[in-house]
Amino acid sequence: MSVRVRFAPSPTGFVHIGSLRTALYNYLLAKKYGGQYILRIEDTDQSRYVEGAIENLLQSMDWAGVLHDEGITLEKGNLVETGEYGPYVQSKRLDIYKKYIQILLDSGDAYYCFCSKERLDEVREKQKALGLTAKYDGHCKSLTKEEVQRKIEAGEEYVIRLKLPSNKDIEINDVIRGKVVVNTEEVDDQVLIKSDGFPTYHFAVVVDDYLMKITHVIRGEEWLPSTPKHVYLYEVLGWEAPQFVHLPNILNTEKKKLSKRQGDVSVEDFMKKGYLPEALVNYIALIGWSPEENREVFSMKELEEAFSLERVSKSGGVFDVNKLNWMNNHY
Ligand code: GLU
Ligand code: ZN
Repeated sequence: MSVRVRFAPSPTGFVHIGSLRTALYNYLLAKKYGGQYILRIEDTDQSRYVEGAIENLLQSMDWAGVLHDEGITLEKGNLVETGEYGPYVQSKRLDIYKKYIQILLDSGDAYYCFCSKERLDEVREKQKALGLTAKYDGHCKSLTKEEVQRKIEAGEEYVIRLKLPSNKDIEINDVIRGKVVVNTEEVDDQVLIKSDGFPTYHFAVVVDDYLMKITHVIRGEEWLPSTPKHVYLYEVLGWEAPQFVHLPNILNTEKKKLSKRQGDVSVEDFMKKGYLPEALVNYIALIGWSPEENREVFSMKELEEAFSLERVSKSGGVFDVNKLNWMNNHY
């Protein structure tokens, strides 16, 4: 099996252990099949950028031993690119997104939208009051080329949206979830290019995963609802979609989403407290994945051999700091 996978965090803060697990599963799959594991920085939402987050990410991954083959690396305090598919930082790829949005505009699969925030809010409120799913009403879909040109020349702000066909079933085959079918009536005409000229995550992720030849997209399940848009983009661009693998959440011992309020959740927290990286990685690997063999202690090399996507569970796994402590004392 040929494998090219990626971990694609947004530099918005510290590395949550859920992100460490996502990175780890990608890494393990690549190692198992002799493939490549890529680190890409998704920083298209400039308002959420946190100073120092990329450096923190690289240090955390380095400490954990989840090392990438291509992407961005820290060398003597400087960020450097390694690999032939770069840049690996999305804010440096704006020309690439421009090229592909033009293709979609030309084929009629994307359109300019000049609606103001006030108008969009109004539409949403009305739909909500009627009990409908809030989505863009297609107001700008039928503007003529001349109207669009005139508005652009007049300096009106715009975004570019995906033009979804009405009432079409989109099928996703998720490695963990199986077949998921979503009708386009349930999906919004997603903004692809924002008014600041940056792409949205949804557009950049598809373009980059294609250009970086990604075979498996392994990420958190919060992205499953977005996947139909991605699959449709692959279709209109004439590209083969990768395999999708959506991982269940990591929960706390009360079966709720694990968050900062309940204690340590970032890789850095555990690093600072003197935990052994091997123990954290070993413990995290077992949240949501069960090895064939009934055993608990694995080295990274052993994890690489034992890992398989088939044994990733559908339901959320629980993070229990007592079990991590047990693991940590076991090394
Ligand atoms: N940038 C996204 C995140 O921070 C990545 C989602 C994906 O892997 O497609 O979660
Ligand atoms: Zn509009």
